Amino acid sequence: MSRVYNFSAGPAVLPEEVLQKVQGEMMDYRGSGMSVMEMSHRSKVFDNIIQEAEQDLRDLMGIPDNYRVLFMQGGASLQFSMIPMNLMKNRVADYVLTGQWSKKAWQEAQKYGTANAVASSADKTFSYIPDCSDLPIDEKADYVYICENNTIYGTKYKKLPNTKGKLLVSDVSSCFLSEPVNVSDYGIIYGGVQKNIGPAGMVISIIREDLITDDVMEFTPTMMKFKTHADAGSLYNTPNCWCIYVCGEVFKWLKAMGGLSVMKERNEKKAAVLYDYLDSSRMFHGTVVKEDRSLMNVPFVTGDKELDAKFVKEAEAAGFVNLKGHRTVGGMRASIYNAMPQEGVEKLVAFMKEFEERGLKKNVSV
Ligand SMILES: *Cc1c(COP(=O)(O)O)cnc(C)c1O
Repeated sequence: MSRVYNFSAGPAVLPEEVLQKVQGEMMDYRGSGMSVMEMSHRSKVFDNIIQEAEQDLRDLMGIPDNYRVLFMQGGASLQFSMIPMNLMKNRVADYVLTGQWSKKAWQEAQKYGTANAVASSADKTFSYIPDCSDLPIDEKADYVYICENNTIYGTKYKKLPNTKGKLLVSDVSSCFLSEPVNVSDYGIIYGGVQKNIGPAGMVISIIREDLITDDVMEFTPTMMKFKTHADAGSLYNTPNCWCIYVCGEVFKWLKAMGGLSVMKERNEKKAAVLYDYLDSSRMFHGTVVKEDRSLMNVPFVTGDKELDAKFVKEAEAAGFVNLKGHRTVGGMRASIYNAMPQEGVEKLVAFMKEFEERGLKKNVSV
């Protein structure tokens, strides 16, 4: 068996301990004689799995009792329409545009009402988080929407926007469980799990109870009403059983690691190895303003497309894979989620240093 260092933005690296545990339970899940992939979602065994997963997530994030946890399908992208359908009572919402994912959510919301863009960092290719201390919040806005960690551009809100009393809805797909959060600051905090938690195919949405009602847009499909899933404990229809199980194992892994404040420390230490090097390198540069740097997604460039491509190719041959940047940013992006070990980043930086030295020497000799 040979595993690479996988810097994919998502689906992404999972903790090896979890993969091994899941492998060990593949043929016979704890005496059931079957795999979790083969069992009824209505069985006692699965009921235990989903209950424990929810409880462990509640413990990790300190989710208050007046918030519901929903495990749903359709990815983070389906939430782009579910959120307005369920929340836009006045048919007005305010969106902060910090990259492609918030832009997509904003565009989708325009189908259901007035979606205002109240701030944007598009002017500098989304390389920073706009000042959100005094946004022109619409009096009638049903909520203010942000994408808290921008997977493609590598920015992260270090401070939540001043919503002037309006509900905050946040997409945390790529920073989910990377550090502690105060759930009460949000009306909805949600994310697709395939970035920083588990396998693809599920979104977890943590929703304040009073926002889950029958008062939704009249055409809302049953499957797109939060209440449908809340009333049925995320078992209205067959959920992604496998994903719930693996995510549950990741929650246990995170608890065993010491929880989210320990993860935050680890993530800060890990990201610093890469950022410190980028700040001192003569060849590679980060693309994001320092104050807004993400701990999870680190884009960088050499400034020369051919050199970028050469680096990505050589890195891959050396066992550092999925470093090619998003097509809209170019260059490279290292996604260094919870499951990426410190050693992976240290080895990547050692490789980058060696690549840089080789390149600089060559330039001198020309
Ligand atoms: C990946 C991503 C999405 C889209 O997720 P899907 O599950 O593929 O729909 C949305 N928001 C953010 C921040 C992402 O990183």
